[in-house]
Amino acid sequence: MVMQRKDFIQKGLGGGLLALLASSIDSTIRAAKSFADSKYRGIEGVYSPTNTHMVGNGFKVMNFFPNGRGFEERMSPFFLLDFNAEVNFPPSEISQGVGVHPHRGIETITFAYKGGVEHHDSKGNYGIINPGDVQWMTAGSGVLHKEYHEQTTNKKGGAFEMVQLWINLPKKHKMVPAKYQSIMHHTKPNYKLPNNMGAVHVIAGEYKGVKGVASTYSPVHMYDIHLNPNAELNFSLPPSYNTGILVIDGGININNQQVSENHYVQLKNEAGEIHIKATKKSILLVLSGEPLNEPYVNYGPFVMNTEEEIKQAIEDYNQGKFGFLKD
Ligand code: MN
Repeated sequence: MVMQRKDFIQKGLGGGLLALLASSIDSTIRAAKSFADSKYRGIEGVYSPTNTHMVGNGFKVMNFFPNGRGFEERMSPFFLLDFNAEVNFPPSEISQGVGVHPHRGIETITFAYKGGVEHHDSKGNYGIINPGDVQWMTAGSGVLHKEYHEQTTNKKGGAFEMVQLWINLPKKHKMVPAKYQSIMHHTKPNYKLPNNMGAVHVIAGEYKGVKGVASTYSPVHMYDIHLNPNAELNFSLPPSYNTGILVIDGGININNQQVSENHYVQLKNEAGEIHIKATKKSILLVLSGEPLNEPYVNYGPFVMNTEEEIKQAIEDYNQGKFGFLKD
């Protein structure tokens, strides 16, 4: 008679121990299986705050991407994410920020969370943004701009917190004329959570039928989410869209993982819900976009598709074709 493996185990071990062992293996397998079959979108990584560096003399930023690890490709069309986590700037008589510099082939987007940011560009666009507001500059074929702390806060000093994001332009829109969108917080359409638990302010794309206000050159969803403690929300984004979440303030639990302030969450490219619970009063920035899947070459402030186009950008800049802006 051939003894089955199961019989052997049953005969070889005491019943109580076996039952315990079997049930613990069983529940481990079940847990692993339910995680794999989970309706939740997986988390690829949670990135800690990085060392900071100064951009000009006004922005003390941590760079979440590209950060030398190919993240500009991983998060395409998003190309650069610099975060100036809350810092107290002392009163200053000297303007703090970044002087006149060019861009071509991208959009640069500045989000103010604390303090104010002033913008000027060579097309004559000008704006000051305060907490909640967004400056969305399309560099396109080329523009010069400068960005400084808003003058009153610069002189008084105080808390300063901002984000700068670059979005790469698709090849067919690389050379669109430069433009500027000034988006005030109160003009962002929002989806209110029940019981006054907060709101999803839609900057671009759509959240549960609420459409954002910014125009974009490739499909992008961008949310400024404000949550009160214990607020919960559930949403999903297209599986193919590269998706990340920056915890600007507070702390959250996302798909069963704790994420603290100043951390960046990279989500996997797969179907599934994103479930967020705020463990504190929180502000989040959600970025999700369809990858461009085009070659790119980056040289400083220019992002083009070929080396040749980079050389052209440098030549055009040197010949003054980006216009003029006083420093
Ligand atoms: Mn710039």
